[in-house]
Amino acid sequence: MLSAECCHSLRHFSFTLLPVNAEIIAVGSELLTPFRMDTNSLFLTEQINQLGVEVVFKSVIGDDLQRLVAAAQHALFRSDIVIFSGGLGPTEDDLTREAVAEALGVALQRDESVLAAIEQRFASRGWKMSPNNAKQADVLDGAVVLPNPNGTAPGQWMSGKFDGRERIVILLPGPPHELKPLFEAECRERLRLKLPPAFLATRVLKVAMLGESQVDARVAPIYKRFGEVQTTILAGQGEIQLHFRSRAGTLDEAQARVDEAADAVEEELDDAVFSRNGESLEQIVGYWLQMRNATLAVAESCTGGMLGERITSVSGSSRYFVGGAIVYSNAAKTDLAGVPADMVERHGAVSREVAAALAEGIRYRCESTFGVGITGVAGPTGGTAEKPVGLVFHALASDGGTEVIERNFPGDRKRIRRFATTLALDMVRKKLM
Ligand code: ATP
Ligand code: MG
Repeated sequence: MLSAECCHSLRHFSFTLLPVNAEIIAVGSELLTPFRMDTNSLFLTEQINQLGVEVVFKSVIGDDLQRLVAAAQHALFRSDIVIFSGGLGPTEDDLTREAVAEALGVALQRDESVLAAIEQRFASRGWKMSPNNAKQADVLDGAVVLPNPNGTAPGQWMSGKFDGRERIVILLPGPPHELKPLFEAECRERLRLKLPPAFLATRVLKVAMLGESQVDARVAPIYKRFGEVQTTILAGQGEIQLHFRSRAGTLDEAQARVDEAADAVEEELDDAVFSRNGESLEQIVGYWLQMRNATLAVAESCTGGMLGERITSVSGSSRYFVGGAIVYSNAAKTDLAGVPADMVERHGAVSREVAAALAEGIRYRCESTFGVGITGVAGPTGGTAEKPVGLVFHALASDGGTEVIERNFPGDRKRIRRFATTLALDMVRKKLM
C-alpha cells in the first residue's frame, strides 16, 4: 500500500519503462441509467492518446463505496495511470475521495486552504457554505490539489508506488465543463513531464459504399504487415473508416509509420477511398466541384432534402451548389423537375426512368453542370414484391449523358435514406475525379 512517506519520497519519479497505460473510471449512478452517458472518458482518452499513452480499461461505477474501492484496487493493480471522473461533490453519495483513500491505504486530511477557497467561493456569491461542502476540502494524504475555477470540488493528483509499482492517480470533478479545463490546465503538462517522450501519429482513410467485411478481407492482409501500426475499422451509415495509429520516439517516425500503412491500404482500395485525412464525403465532393468549376443541383424524392442538407452543411457550398427540389408527390416530380406525367404512370415513381428524368430535369431547370435524381422506397411501408423496401434509383446527369445506379439497401428508413444520399454523393465524386 502507498504510505504517506513513501509517497512523499517518490513524488518525483518518472516512468522509465515503455509502454505506459492508463485506465479511466467514471463514477456516478446516473451514468448507469438510460438517461446519462459517460462522455468524459472520450475526452480523456483523446487527451491521453495525444500524450502517447493508450487507455486499456474503462469502467462506469455507481455511487457505492465497496464497489468503488474494489474498482480502484483493480485499476491500481493493472494500470500505470488511473483517472477518476465524478463523485467529488458535497453529497453523501459522492464517494470517490473516500474510495481512493481506502484503496491506496492513505488517510484523507481536511485541507484548510482548500476549505477557505470553497468558503470564499460561496461568499463571493453572497451565499453561506453549507456544512456538507466541507468534505470537498478532504485531500488524499500526499496529493497535490488541482484548483478548479469552474466548480467547488478541486481535483487531486497523487503519484507514488502502489504494491511496488509506479502509479499516477488523478481525481477529477464530473461536470464536463469543469473536468475539461481542469485537465488541460493542471494535468496535461504534469503527465507529459512524467512520461517517456512518445508521439502519436494518426491517419484516417474513408471508404464509401463497400461492406465492412469486404473491406476487411481486402485490407487485413496488408495492415497486418505493419506490426507497429494499430489499425481499427469503424463502419456506419454507408461509410467505412480505417484509423491508423502509431507511437514512436519522434513525431516524424510515428508519422512515417502510419503513412506507410495507410498508403499501402489506399493502394489496394484505389478510388473507393474518398478521403485521406478525415474529410467528409460532402466536403470532398465540394472540393472537386470547385476544382472543376462545376455546379450541382438535386431532385430528391425518398431522401426528402437530406442530400441538399448534407451538401449545404459544408461552409462555402454556395459556390457550387445551385439548389434543388423535394419532389415527393408525382405532381411535384412533374411540376418541379419536368418529369413527364405519363412516364410516372408507365414506369412508376420508383423507376430507373424517373430517376434519370429527375436528374436531367433539375439540371436543366437549375442550369447546373450536374443534376442528381433520387427516387426509392424508404419503408417501412409501401414496399411491393416488385419494388421492395430499400430499392433506390440514383441518377447523375451531365452533358455526357445520364447514368443510373439501382440498389437494394438493407436496414430501416433512416439507414436507407442515408445510404441513398451517400451513394449519390459518391457518384458525383467518381464523375469528377
Ligand atoms: P459536483 O460537485 O458537481 O457534484 P461531482 O464530481 O460529484 O461534482 P457528479 O456529481 O458525479 O460530479 O456529476 C455532476 C454532473 O456531471 C452530472 O450532471 C453528471 O451527469 C455529469 N457527469 C458526471 N460524470 C460524467 C461523465 N463521466 N460524463 C459526462 N457527464 C458526467
Ligand atoms: Mg455525484
